[in-house]
Amino acid sequence: MQKEENWDWSSFWTETVNQLKNNLTEQESVMWFSNLAYLSGTEDIMRISVPSSFYKDQISQRYGTLISETLENICGRKLGIEFHVIAASLEIDKSDGDSLNGKPQKDIPVQKAAARTTQTKPRPKPAIPGNNVLNPDYTFDSFVIGDNNSFAANAAYAISKNPGTAYNPCLFYGGVGLGKTHLIQSIGHSVRNDSPELKIVYVTAEAFTNEFLDMLGKKKMHQFKNKYRGVDILLIDDIHFLQNKEGTQEELFHTFNALYESKKQIVFTCDRPVSELKNLTDRLRSRFERGLNVDLKPPDLETRQAILMKKMESRNISISPEVIELICQNITSNVRDLESALLKLVAYSELVHKDISLAIANEQLKDHFTDNFQVNISVDLIQKIVSDYFNVSTADLKSKKRTKAVTLPRQIAMFILRELTEYSTTEIGYEFGGRDHTTVMHACQRIESRMKTDSTLEPTINNLIRTVKDDIKS
Ligand code: ADP
Ligand code: MG
Repeated sequence: MQKEENWDWSSFWTETVNQLKNNLTEQESVMWFSNLAYLSGTEDIMRISVPSSFYKDQISQRYGTLISETLENICGRKLGIEFHVIAASLEIDKSDGDSLNGKPQKDIPVQKAAARTTQTKPRPKPAIPGNNVLNPDYTFDSFVIGDNNSFAANAAYAISKNPGTAYNPCLFYGGVGLGKTHLIQSIGHSVRNDSPELKIVYVTAEAFTNEFLDMLGKKKMHQFKNKYRGVDILLIDDIHFLQNKEGTQEELFHTFNALYESKKQIVFTCDRPVSELKNLTDRLRSRFERGLNVDLKPPDLETRQAILMKKMESRNISISPEVIELICQNITSNVRDLESALLKLVAYSELVHKDISLAIANEQLKDHFTDNFQVNISVDLIQKIVSDYFNVSTADLKSKKRTKAVTLPRQIAMFILRELTEYSTTEIGYEFGGRDHTTVMHACQRIESRMKTDSTLEPTINNLIRTVKDDIKS
């Protein structure tokens, strides 16, 4: 057994934290690193105190690898790191140490942590990210169904019960953080549960591309083809990544045909409707469009609340309903942002050992709220400028009214949003009273063709665009 007092690594730890801080935002360093402290060390292991189990999990998952690597650079050798939850007194909690990258101490039972599996000796070759690893949290059970996603959720469920039949292929699309990955992986889990004999491959389009290029370079294309053409269910996430990747598109096209002909299930996700993908070969585009295309929209207030309740339940967290409502009122864009706001409050609450009041939540989340507000500004601003110009109300733009006086300004506002912002047609539709993305596409086409026949329209639109830009600058 090592004599611990011989190994005082504290200055190494201090330096590690200093270097880490250079790579992190101030908010991140304060939030995650100001509460860690050096405890003790042996030749192989450094022990660091963390204020709670929540911190321990988060630090291991988010920063485990980074910490290990920085420490290794500084010490010139590999050291394991154990995080110990030290709440009130400075006693080492012997049952609660997670070891990163090192031999566990014999007298300290070590739990298996996520970070540890990524850092063992000798260091394993990194897995291709997004390749066939299903997140255990992404199941149908944990997916909350609301008006925004019920069609998609039901289709996904139906696919998992009868793969390769009714909805084949199927494509789920929608903006970031709306649950596409969650849904497509739920299909994987469910099929794996029901029919363990079926071969399921989940892969991001990025990992698929990397693997394809890797195999091509190693002249092992037959292996790649065998792998992908021999699956029962192929789940490919984020196909927008394939834009401009001609070789990979070609390979996927053949994979698709092979699977489709043998009635194997194929599911894709994409961050926009297929029609808006650029630099995609027509034949692959037509494959993506075949079968069922379903969109996921942002959740309404009630669904946002239900989602946060579900997240709290699964993580065993408790936060008052008023605070949950505050988060849900202010963060409307997507579920990922909702979740990160919740996690931030939990971290804060654990740190200060206090329940989260409305005032604390407001203070802690002000950055989250303003970001969200700024995102809304440009939609609001454009709607306001256009409606002022045409002397209609913004409510009219969002309403179901289809009189000429409202339709033209509405179409112009949609067109300008497409011109000036990165919003997808799905998102724009949502901002105009929950309209469908096809309505937005249609509106933009109408304006474009009208500009060709009506020579006054283009100057009007240019004028409006200038007003918007001036307003943003001022
Ligand atoms: P996307 O792939 O569309 O960008 P994700 O599937 O990664 O989005 O979802 C982002 C986060 O939001 C995940 O943690 C996911 O579990 C959660 N989430 C999204 N929609 C729902 C939902 N309807 N119910 C529960 N959690 C959801
Ligand atoms: Mg995703």
